[in-house]
Amino acid sequence: MSEGLATRCVHAGEIDDAHGSPNTPLYNTTTFKFPSTADLLDVVDGRKPGSLYTRYGLNPTIASLEAKLAALEGAGAAWAFCSGMAAETALFLTHGRKGIVCIGDAYGGTLELLAAQLPLLGIPTHLLLGNDIGRLDEVVSAGVGLVFFETPTNPTLEIFDIHAIASLAHAHGALVAVDNTFASPVNQQPLALGADLVVHSCTKYLGGHSDLTAGAMMGAKELLAPVWNWRKNLGTTIAPEIAALLARSIRTLPVRVQRQNATAQAVAAAMARHARVAQVLYPGLSGFPGHALAKKQMSGFGGMLTIEVRGGGEAATRVADRLKLFALAPSLGGAESLVTQPCTTTHHGLPPEERARRGISDAMLRLSVGLEDAEDLIADLNQALG
Ligand SMILES: *Cc1c(COP(=O)(O)O)cnc(C)c1O
Repeated sequence: MSEGLATRCVHAGEIDDAHGSPNTPLYNTTTFKFPSTADLLDVVDGRKPGSLYTRYGLNPTIASLEAKLAALEGAGAAWAFCSGMAAETALFLTHGRKGIVCIGDAYGGTLELLAAQLPLLGIPTHLLLGNDIGRLDEVVSAGVGLVFFETPTNPTLEIFDIHAIASLAHAHGALVAVDNTFASPVNQQPLALGADLVVHSCTKYLGGHSDLTAGAMMGAKELLAPVWNWRKNLGTTIAPEIAALLARSIRTLPVRVQRQNATAQAVAAAMARHARVAQVLYPGLSGFPGHALAKKQMSGFGGMLTIEVRGGGEAATRVADRLKLFALAPSLGGAESLVTQPCTTTHHGLPPEERARRGISDAMLRLSVGLEDAEDLIADLNQALG
């Protein structure tokens, strides 16, 4: 890939139409007509590329978005889905049937799918947390086909070594898939580091405005080809309207994420100096345990950070409730800053000892830094901390 990421975000995949539009038009149609049966069969039988039926993904707006998504991760191909969970479901059903091992903490929906639902279909799943991560070699050598993880993780921003995990997994013939939602392709390129597949909740940074739900999977053509039928028949293809909106957002992804990186670094530094803050978890702080590894495998430290408030869970709840610019809401990656208390939201369903095993204390607040001025966000945190 010769062009830089920002250039790819703007230009990759855009198809000119008959009227010279600089952006791919929205083909808001479910089906496409053919001049003859012979032409129709050329597309149905795969002899010629072409548009056919939108649920199949054979729609120019969706195909254009997918070319852009592939270019973002330096991948051979990409498929777009109606949500991040739809992308993960298709990933697990296509490449995880021999067994899946998930390293570290993961998104709540992903953990529920792995722990409670895929085993109902006879798919063996292993969730390795904390000290158990040392058992990865043993679990993978027992024949698990897919190693899956997030880095940085939610909400403790733990960093896993993509290159080292890929080497270990490949030695046992397993594939490696990374959920790159938190970092975004601007800050981390898992395929270049040795991963085989990447999934995204495009609902977060790629969408970037808290106004769309979508997902994506990127990887080599041979690995994505068998995913196509699963998406087609699960019926989880992205809608053309959302594909056009997502492509619009991706054109500004690098400027948004670089600004969020800088603001999160400033907020983290201010919080690290605050007397009412016991701990700041942010990969960009030199004292953070994962800092050296993050510096090696990431080109930016991201817009997510977690602070631990002095005084316990109730003190943290009071801070969350007093924040004015940071809205109290789950999700992340939008223009507006958000705050969540993991023990009351993302990790509410877990018993306290499970939260402790993940290093999550009740006094933690997870911040998604938006596009406001850093000084205003810091002032809001200072007034809320009292
Ligand atoms: C939000 C999220 C998901 C799920 O994405 P949806 O678009 O809500 O289905 C998966 N992984 C991570 C890391 C997320 O933050």
